Amino acid sequence: MSTIAFIETSEGKVKKSSLEALCYAHALGKPVTALVLGPADESDLKSLGNYGAQKVLHANDARLGQGVLQAYASVLAQAMKDENADVLILANSSLATTAAAKVAVKLKASFASNVTELPDTSNGFVVRKSIYTGKAFSWVELKSDKKVIVIRKNAAELKETGGSAEIVSYSPTLTDADFNTTITGSEKATGDVLLPEAEIVVSGGRGLKGPEHWGLIEDLAKSLHAATGCSKPVSDMGWRPHHEHVGQTGIKVAPQLYIAVGISGAIQHLAGVNSSKCIVVINKDAEAPFFKAADYGIVGDAFDVLPKLTEAIKQSK
Ligand SMILES: Cc1cc2nc3c(=O)[nH]c(=O)nc-3n(C[C@H](O)[C@H](O)[C@H](O)COP(=O)(O)OP(=O)(O)OC[C@H]3O[C@@H](n4cnc5c(N)ncnc54)[C@H](O)[C@@H]3O)c2cc1C
Repeated sequence: MSTIAFIETSEGKVKKSSLEALCYAHALGKPVTALVLGPADESDLKSLGNYGAQKVLHANDARLGQGVLQAYASVLAQAMKDENADVLILANSSLATTAAAKVAVKLKASFASNVTELPDTSNGFVVRKSIYTGKAFSWVELKSDKKVIVIRKNAAELKETGGSAEIVSYSPTLTDADFNTTITGSEKATGDVLLPEAEIVVSGGRGLKGPEHWGLIEDLAKSLHAATGCSKPVSDMGWRPHHEHVGQTGIKVAPQLYIAVGISGAIQHLAGVNSSKCIVVINKDAEAPFFKAADYGIVGDAFDVLPKLTEAIKQSK
């Protein structure tokens, strides 16, 4: 038996979240096959060996580069059978999570999403999953022989193994029914660093007073090579684009460092950031609820603090 890690790509590059899925799969202790769909960079395929893959199955069919859900589910289910795999690991994304659920139905497999850490196999196969938009955890036993697991960011440590993988071209059977939807267009989010993938996020709230002050957020983000985010009212008022809205009804982020500036810390905002490794809050109100969720806090006026902080970071480089 083996484990398959599904590797998602963006413009041919492997997503970092998929490397975490690969490390998670490797930590389960069985041989790991990485499955890559659509066009992908040769060097990125080779690098998968260094994160625990023994084999890379590459289905280089241009139609698979378009993210058609039904086709992804078909290929994933076929690969599970062809590789004699009993566990499929995917990193959370809108595409992967939905495809995973379809695969679980096809294979009659146990399914768990939002998994936050490696399973406890001391008595069965039990995973911890995040529920109620991150406000609680539940422990779920996966009882079927086949298991499909979607992990959240930071569920596994990103570890290089120094290994290498055999790259094998894979030609699954695909029919017209697998492509019963067509993506007719797509629009890419703007910004140097994409929010869901970012290691560092600098977010601004209503405390910034208006869009004309966003340069302060952007300068700090640039000095840290961070993505920018915002609270919901900020995007509702059109100060920032909607794809930057973080929280329960927006993007869920899990960076190494989340810096919240002029954001009160409402529960709906916290639901989108509470998997971050380290949270820094800058707010002029010492009683702002966000400080309770913060690892570090600065009580101060954003208009004083931000220029000084950005300057200090630039100086330290
Ligand atoms: C169903 C539902 C879903 C929601 N989903 C989301 C969501 O996904 N994401 C989200 O963000 N919100 C969401 N909300 C809204 C949420 O409840 C809050 O209203 C919102 O997060 C508040 O945004 P804010 O902190 O930017 O603004 P405010 O609550 O107005 O807070 C502004 C903060 O800035 C501080 N401040 C003011 N001036 C300065 C200054 N000069 N320097 C430093 N600090 C300053 C203030 O002390 C205050 O703490 C949702 C609400 C509902 C009902």
